[in-house]
Amino acid sequence: MSMRGPGGRSQFMTDEEKKNAPKVTKELLARIFSYLTPYWKQMAVVLTAIICSSILAIYPSIITGKIIDEGLLAKDLNRLVYLILLSLAVTLGSNLIGVLESYMNTWIAQHITFDMRNQMYEHLSRMPQSFFTSSNQGDIITRMTSDISGVQQIITNTFTSILSNSITLIVALVAMFSKNWVLAITGIIIVPLFTIPTRKAGKTRWTLTREAQAVNDQINGILNETLSVSGQLLVKVFGMEKFEYRRYRKANEKMINLNIRESMAGRWFRVVISTVSSVGPMLLYLVGGILMIRYNHDLTVGDITVLVTLLGRMYGPVNSLLNIQVEWIRAMANFTRIFSYYDMPVEIENAPDAIRPESAKGDIEFKNVYFRYNPERMILKDVTFRLDSGHSIAIVGPSGSGKSTLINLIPRLYDVLEGSVTFDGIDVRKLDLEFLRKNIGIVTQDTYLFNGTIRENLMYANVHASVAEMEEACRKANIHDYIMKLEKGYDTEVGNRGLKLSGGEKQRISIARVLLKNPAVMIFDEATASLDSISEKAIQDAIDPLIESRTSILIAHRLSTILAADEIIVLKDGVIVERGTHKELMNAGGVYTELYNTQFKPQIAEE
Ligand code: ATP
Repeated sequence: MSMRGPGGRSQFMTDEEKKNAPKVTKELLARIFSYLTPYWKQMAVVLTAIICSSILAIYPSIITGKIIDEGLLAKDLNRLVYLILLSLAVTLGSNLIGVLESYMNTWIAQHITFDMRNQMYEHLSRMPQSFFTSSNQGDIITRMTSDISGVQQIITNTFTSILSNSITLIVALVAMFSKNWVLAITGIIIVPLFTIPTRKAGKTRWTLTREAQAVNDQINGILNETLSVSGQLLVKVFGMEKFEYRRYRKANEKMINLNIRESMAGRWFRVVISTVSSVGPMLLYLVGGILMIRYNHDLTVGDITVLVTLLGRMYGPVNSLLNIQVEWIRAMANFTRIFSYYDMPVEIENAPDAIRPESAKGDIEFKNVYFRYNPERMILKDVTFRLDSGHSIAIVGPSGSGKSTLINLIPRLYDVLEGSVTFDGIDVRKLDLEFLRKNIGIVTQDTYLFNGTIRENLMYANVHASVAEMEEACRKANIHDYIMKLEKGYDTEVGNRGLKLSGGEKQRISIARVLLKNPAVMIFDEATASLDSISEKAIQDAIDPLIESRTSILIAHRLSTILAADEIIVLKDGVIVERGTHKELMNAGGVYTELYNTQFKPQIAEE
């Protein structure tokens, strides 16, 4: 019955294991190998070093036999000194080779990690926006940091350990058999006793490691969510400190329990191994003694000592090699996780025959566009409109009607489900992405500034811009005078995400940033949050001339912006329900009139 209890539990773990264990296919190994191939020369050096140092490491054991037989028992002092010096020299040689080996190893591991990390970053930065909105930030960071660092561990430890231990083992076995086969077999008989506890411990540790990884992702997620500036703000204003603390504490508790269990799984395993390994030498002395004493075998004391030392040398590698099973699975899982990220489709990328026109005019057309983030709900339905270059369109509509979604389709942050979006008459999916995005400037509702100076943030749009151009853009955006009043001017640090600036200032800086980029089409997602009337006026003064002079699409929440546009499109539940000028729409007395009465009219009253 006692078998059933743990049996049932282990059955559960096996299921889990089956679900999570990576299939070690030829393809997976070949793929891992492809990262090693550029460094084959260095690998050859490592391999040679491992072979040499493994052989040399066995030598002192063999010399010990000679020290006993030819030096001590034969009472030959000269020979004794010579053998001792030889043994020391061999050990030194083997260690020196070891240094070379570990240097080369680290070098290879660091270079492979470098390659993989860059590849991962490059791949992630090509992922569609939907990837970032739907995946957990903690997961992404774990992949970038611990999983890729894991690769380094695997190369410096796991792979090398497999190689050097296998070679040491083979050399030790050959040496043992060449001394005395009876004693060699006696020593080997003990070996299978290792496999039973190893297998069990291996399985348990594997499952625990996976669980720990999941909890680690969870902890990273909590930290990322709650210890960010906006996260903390949310926690504070909702008084959720205790709740978040408890959530964190719970995950942390789970983590330590898993860690303790994992470390104990390994500990029990080591107890058994060390007990078993002390039986081996004794058995050799016994069998060797019987052979010498009873059967007058020509074995010498030195031979038996050599065999015992070699056996000692063998257990280490066997032990490690059995342990390696766990490491190996972990390594494969690590690579599988990384590769699963590499394999995520980029979705939005350049068509093979992407078109890159010489110049951009800025005509935009939506033709029967349908779009949804997920299958449950269609966000945009049959959206059709045209914006000729030099003109402007204001998009208005209730919150959640799909306005931001609509503009995100233009620079291909997402692709349409049906229909098409064209830029200068060419489907955006056929255009070169870099060209497209270079020619579209967006001022988003949620202004994002990097932690750096105002200058750095502005130059992000155009690294080649001159100081005069930068200042001109800021003048147009109505922010130059403000910046000049700051003690450090353009070199003022904006703080984390630009939090040292007010909402209105950030917006004007982001307008200047887009102006510096000088795109053919300007998209302005007006913030819904109301600003004080001075900031409002400053922004208004910045936008109005832009609308006049540029092809622009404005998601408008303010009457003045709407009035400045050539045409107004009214979006409701993802459908264009009305379009026309302010006057026409007011006369129609539909959705726009309603919006006007609820949203825009109160603004006038406020002013
Ligand atoms: P607002 O004026 O409040 O900014 P909006 O008209 O710009 O609203 P969108 O942001 O386009 O509206 O959102 C339209 C709908 O799509 C909303 O119901 C929103 O919940 C949903 N939505 C937006 N982004 C995503 C996303 N990344 N994944 C799934 N659904 C989304």
